[in-house]
Amino acid sequence: MNIVGIAWTTELATCPCGKTPTELNITDAGQGRKWANVAGNCCGEWMIEFRTHYTEFRSEECVQLAREAWNAAPRAANAGLCSALMALRDARKWVQQAHDEAEAKHDNYDMDIVQYEIMRETEQLLTRIDSALL
Ligand SMILES: [Zn+2]
Repeated sequence: MNIVGIAWTTELATCPCGKTPTELNITDAGQGRKWANVAGNCCGEWMIEFRTHYTEFRSEECVQLAREAWNAAPRAANAGLCSALMALRDARKWVQQAHDEAEAKHDNYDMDIVQYEIMRETEQLLTRIDSALL
């Protein structure tokens, strides 16, 4: 993967994570360098795809294109989705804990049906969370 860190002197638009990056990282999005991804050095999770026009990733033109894509990307809808996914990721560990506890209790108390149900439900929930976070 081709990652180029760029120090910016001009201001960048705020990321949906709430921080304003001071640097953008450009990574190859494949397709023979036709497309690239740009992410901030804040969270590094919110990515914008942009056309490189086959410019070199380290070139000023490509950097300019990355900056324009970053600043122009609509944020309102993405910000909501982004924070929902972050909340889901945070919630995952508690679902996992509830699952593990139910599993342990179910084993200890000899086929405890309530714990068994919790175990099954949380197991399915974890699967759904994992596919949403892919
Ligand atoms: Zn961010």
